[in-house]
Amino acid sequence: MKLKRFFFLSLLIWMSLVLSSFFWNYTAASKEQERVALESAKTVFNYINITRLWNTQHAAVYVPITKNTPPNPYLKNPNKNIKVNDDLTLTQINPAYMIQQIADIAMEENGVQFHFTSLTPINPINRPTELEATVLKEFQTGLKEKGMFISKEGHQYYFYMAPIYTDESCFNCHKMHDLLDHNIGGGISVTSSYIMKIPFMALLLGHIIIGLVGGVVIFLATQKLKSAYRIIQEQATIDSLTGIPNRRIFSERIITEFKHHLRDKQPLSIIMCDIDYFKRFNDTYGHLAGDQCLTTVAQIIQKSLKRPVDFCARYGGEEFIILLPETDQQGAKHFAEIIRQKIEALKIPNENAIPYKIVTISLGVATVNESTPISSYEKLIHQADKALYMAKEQGRNQVQTFNN
Ligand code: GH3
Ligand code: MG
Ligand code: MG
Repeated sequence: MKLKRFFFLSLLIWMSLVLSSFFWNYTAASKEQERVALESAKTVFNYINITRLWNTQHAAVYVPITKNTPPNPYLKNPNKNIKVNDDLTLTQINPAYMIQQIADIAMEENGVQFHFTSLTPINPINRPTELEATVLKEFQTGLKEKGMFISKEGHQYYFYMAPIYTDESCFNCHKMHDLLDHNIGGGISVTSSYIMKIPFMALLLGHIIIGLVGGVVIFLATQKLKSAYRIIQEQATIDSLTGIPNRRIFSERIITEFKHHLRDKQPLSIIMCDIDYFKRFNDTYGHLAGDQCLTTVAQIIQKSLKRPVDFCARYGGEEFIILLPETDQQGAKHFAEIIRQKIEALKIPNENAIPYKIVTISLGVATVNESTPISSYEKLIHQADKALYMAKEQGRNQVQTFNN
């Protein structure tokens, strides 16, 4: 797989994971927000209902008449007011009146609004809002409670409502036909402005940072892979000892250049080089010195190449091959001679190499052109090999060309 594709695919997968994590966390936080809002509203409802039950259990609860607690005009009980003495008259507080008074205090103290309501209220203050009326009707169809987020004047609230079931005390004021189905007398709604905040920005920023860090890690990993890939590729194409291309690359190159020659009718030359008496060199100076000598010769050959199309490779043990596209026999011979002289000029001692006593090389040149066509590149290599053999035969440290 191409590294670029690997990078983008990994990045895509990572981003999808981060995005999924963000949505999963956000959804979980939203659910938690709703659960907390519901539980809080339910708790408020339960406390109100318990207070209401306390009132109903006492059949009649009396409190002193004050400015804030005038007698309830909607209460038809003849014993609604009881005069204790000249300074104190008590008035009956029924559940609805009591809840209305508690609601006023709760609104002021806590910002929680609750409302005791019914579809057939006696006191108009208990008339349901549009939403409450809808929910009350839903209670008649069996709904047990309702909780939801609502928006009012640009603010978000949580609205909760549950039914109030009738008991004996209700009939002190209400008539039987006032009641809803399922024994429901009405309901208490709780509207709270306290909503747990979802840490949206923290979630978003956290995921952006995770996404970016992951992206950078993927980028760095891809870079590492890239350089590892380049090293592997180099190892596969470059001879590890001499640092010049290996025979595998030569085999690819010669095929391409031979095709170019056939197509463009341009000459193509190759030079086969072999270090003279190299076995003796190893025997005399050791294998490590031999390696060093091989590297020096290889580097001299490579640095002698002038044009970008020229190419050299280590062909075998102490053999090198040079590929010279668009070069005729004379040019190749001239180039081979320059290399021979350069190696000779190094004067690397090889005391058992008779008669020169220094490191020298023999070179065989073969050329294919329009006038001397060759059917395959293998034949061209074979010809260069033959020319090299001739150079060895005729005393080494020389250039020989293959002639038909
Ligand atoms: P000639 O002039 O006929 O080419 O004689 P020669 O001794 O060079 O040829 P021969 O084929 O007898 O020996 C080649 C030697 O090259 C033998 C081998 O040990 C040595 N050689 C091949 N590869 C390496 C290498 O990677 N490092 C070293 N140090 N020596 C090598
Ligand atoms: Mg050899
Ligand atoms: Mg040799």
